[in-house]
Amino acid sequence: MKPSIPFDNSYAALPEGFFARMQPRTASNPRLLAFNAPLAQDLGIAPTSDLASLAETFSGNALPEGADPLAQAYAGHQFGGFSPQLGDGRALLIGEVVDRHGKRRDLQLKGSGRTPFSRGGDGLAAMGPVLREYLISEAMFTLGVPTTRSLAAVATGDDVLRETPLPGAVLTRVAASHLRVGSFEFFAARRDAARTSQLLGFATERHYPQVSTPLEFLKAVIAAQAQLVAHWMSIGFIHGVMNTDNTTISGETIDYGPCAFMDGYHPATVYSSIDRQGRYAYDNQRHVLPWNMAQLASSLLLLEEDTETAVQAYTQAVHEMPALIDAAWLQRFGAKLGMANATVDDRPLIDELLALMANQGADFTNTFRALSSGDAKDAEALFVEPSALHDWSHRWHKRIEREESPDLRMRAVNPAVIARNHRVEQTLAAAMTGDMQPFQDLQRVLTTPFDLSDDDSEYAIPPRPDEEITATFC
Ligand code: AMP
Ligand code: MG
Ligand code: MG
Repeated sequence: MKPSIPFDNSYAALPEGFFARMQPRTASNPRLLAFNAPLAQDLGIAPTSDLASLAETFSGNALPEGADPLAQAYAGHQFGGFSPQLGDGRALLIGEVVDRHGKRRDLQLKGSGRTPFSRGGDGLAAMGPVLREYLISEAMFTLGVPTTRSLAAVATGDDVLRETPLPGAVLTRVAASHLRVGSFEFFAARRDAARTSQLLGFATERHYPQVSTPLEFLKAVIAAQAQLVAHWMSIGFIHGVMNTDNTTISGETIDYGPCAFMDGYHPATVYSSIDRQGRYAYDNQRHVLPWNMAQLASSLLLLEEDTETAVQAYTQAVHEMPALIDAAWLQRFGAKLGMANATVDDRPLIDELLALMANQGADFTNTFRALSSGDAKDAEALFVEPSALHDWSHRWHKRIEREESPDLRMRAVNPAVIARNHRVEQTLAAAMTGDMQPFQDLQRVLTTPFDLSDDDSEYAIPPRPDEEITATFC
């Protein structure tokens, strides 16, 4: 039986210019690789054990009634350079549902064929990257980070040509919306104030109903993104492609391409093979987001009559973002060290630990997790020279003496296990040979990242030098 989805579409009601209606490409032999049953239930999709019909549905071959597939228009700054027309080149919004908590969410197929926005691309996605996004977006969710979700991954049975032919797949992604900074840039670059204003109305109602001016909207997005980047950094996450078309209005993480969780800590860490200048390196993430927000600000300026006054106010809003990020960062990293309410006075203690970790190539996740016992001795073993931590340990112990149950606080924010690159790559390699077991095992372990059982302790082990992945691809 065809699964029914309670569609309630609103973006599709926007006027001409916002999207292109489009049917997904037919998959020749759809096969379900992964399905997120709890998420489906949240979305009001009736449970079914009919895997073949799930594969038909989520390949795009047989969309349920009420689907209205379309490719969304957007632009974007990619690595600093502006592309006035990007858009969904390999994705289709198939519709929206209002979930069981009353939240409106997008359902999108990714890898479903060419669209009017495909430019030179084939509109397709390979199985590896689809499973990668599935796994990592769900891992981010269980870590508590705002993110798009993954509902289904379906192998299409068709090859995708990259350097070599690869098995193709389609991901069904769920998002608060797929609106991006680049959605605003698209109309602003065309000096289309009417549609910029319509988009603002749509985005405001959907994400920030409490705001009433473009400036307040800008500030709301800035606040959400400031929280997000601090959250990323607190778990050692590197997005890899923070272009403005990959920066959401909702404040959710989107577009898991060459992203990665850091193993050994270093602020300049880059995994993405396309980020040759380190523009989106771990510690640069907090510097580049205000730049992205400046692009949103510029787009919204089109809506202001008194441009000069507005420029001042918008500039100020963007200039205030680094302080917001710093404050969020301080709370997150303070909590990682057991502090209920870190203040600027605590900042040197945090910075010194990070500097020691960078010097010693200490594992980011495991160092903080080891400290979560409340005894720095447990972390010393992770340092090349354990004594390097002595002096710091002494000051840290003194600082957290006045905290109540710092170890409990730390264990709730310092994951025991993350989606380590080498593990992810191993599961994808197995999946390519038809073995989904390692993928399912890793997924199970990542469901409770703050609580790793002894049986699964191998998942916490950093890569050996010969296992280490230094570059990730999209
Ligand atoms: P991304 O790097 O995934 O954020 O994509 C940037 C832009 O390139 C978006 O407009 C995508 O839709 C488009 N794109 C990426 N890969 C493909 C592909 N294989 N075929 C068509 N368009 C693509
Ligand atoms: Mg993108
Ligand atoms: Mg991508």
